[in-house]
Amino acid sequence: MKIEPKIRGFICTTAHPDGCRENVRRQIAYVKSQPKTDGPKRVLVIGASTGYGLASRISAAFSCDAATLGIVFEKPSVRGRNASAGWYNTAAFEEFAQADGLYAKTINGDAFSEEIKQKTINMIRQDLGTVDMVVYSVATSRRTAPDGTAYSSVLKTTGGTYSNKTIDLTTRTISDVTIEPAAPEEVEATVKVMGGEDWEAWMHALKNAGVLAEHTVTVAYSYIGPKLTHPIYLNGSIGKAKQDLYETSQRLSREIDGVDAYISVNKALVTQSSAAIPIVPLYITILYKIMKEKGLHEGCIEQMYRMFHDKLYAGQPALDQQGQLRLDDYEMQEDVQQAVMQAWTTLSEDNLAQIADIDGYWEDFYHMFGFNVSGVDYDADTDVEVSIASIQE
Ligand code: NAD
Repeated sequence: MKIEPKIRGFICTTAHPDGCRENVRRQIAYVKSQPKTDGPKRVLVIGASTGYGLASRISAAFSCDAATLGIVFEKPSVRGRNASAGWYNTAAFEEFAQADGLYAKTINGDAFSEEIKQKTINMIRQDLGTVDMVVYSVATSRRTAPDGTAYSSVLKTTGGTYSNKTIDLTTRTISDVTIEPAAPEEVEATVKVMGGEDWEAWMHALKNAGVLAEHTVTVAYSYIGPKLTHPIYLNGSIGKAKQDLYETSQRLSREIDGVDAYISVNKALVTQSSAAIPIVPLYITILYKIMKEKGLHEGCIEQMYRMFHDKLYAGQPALDQQGQLRLDDYEMQEDVQQAVMQAWTTLSEDNLAQIADIDGYWEDFYHMFGFNVSGVDYDADTDVEVSIASIQE
């Protein structure tokens, strides 16, 4: 059948298997074009199917020649309907990894559950013995905790209300938006979903099961960004969760013998998660424009390759004063931020097209779901049913 993009709000409800495969192929080709990394050899990636997690898995496999076990939460094709983009990405990843003789297996299910943790432990025991790296890259708005309580995260401020410009990317119009402060229980729920509790539970479960190597590196991802997004991000409900993630990294390094836990602060990029944050997409479109003009723009794969090759596994890890890896170094460069701020203050609907890279935003958005990828024949009949060789549900 022919597959068309169907966009609803911040997501696309369809995905194109050939386009997703091509995206994965290109990310792998990028990594293969770069110098190899003397890095980990058996890597568990939790949240491995899209965005930063997928790029981490690709970098580990194709730059370090690592065996990878991926944990994902994706929809297979049911009754002729589309699978999710992350499903197709995973199928493509496994196909390319196996063609290169690399171990790659995937478990599809809720990473927050005990059941998936246990399945993962069993699979590591059976196939790998131990893992020497754990990447935690889960991004979601919902979590059911082990006691059965369901939590939903919010994207709100924590101080007072905050007003600034935002963009409707569909109509390409600018408006003012006011974001309300989160109630204390909403902040608490956001920390439950996007904070460090589950990462910590994973690391303790893996350690107790004896499936961590003598020296294991673990990394989770965060964001800081410029002042204008601080009320909604750094100081907002999501920022509280990221603070919790940071404190978790410190605790993990202190409390689990042989574990070095890091936070990598990454660049703002279009992913399924970031599209939903108010104000941030407008900032991203301006940032893209400026970083592309300066030749500094990176996608998930360039960021994650750089994390492995330049920051984590180039001798001593390159850390900031808080002990974090800074992959947002180009984004936060003074000349970049000055240019963004200047653009932000002069921005209007009349000059929007010159100041913001909205086409670039949409390009990335469509690409995430495998659409508008050059070289893919979208008129061809495509089979939506794509199987993943190793998948365990
Ligand atoms: P994403 O939406 O592209 O990826 C999320 C991944 O989590 C997917 O593989 C998905 O399958 C998996 N997942 C979701 N719920 C799950 C569950 N219950 N069980 C198992 N897997 C589950 O998101 P992303 O933007 O790559 O975000 C990854 C991390 O990077 C997050 O911590 C995010 O805050 C951080 N980050 C993102 C940005 C950005 O601009 N996108 C910037 C800096 C840091």
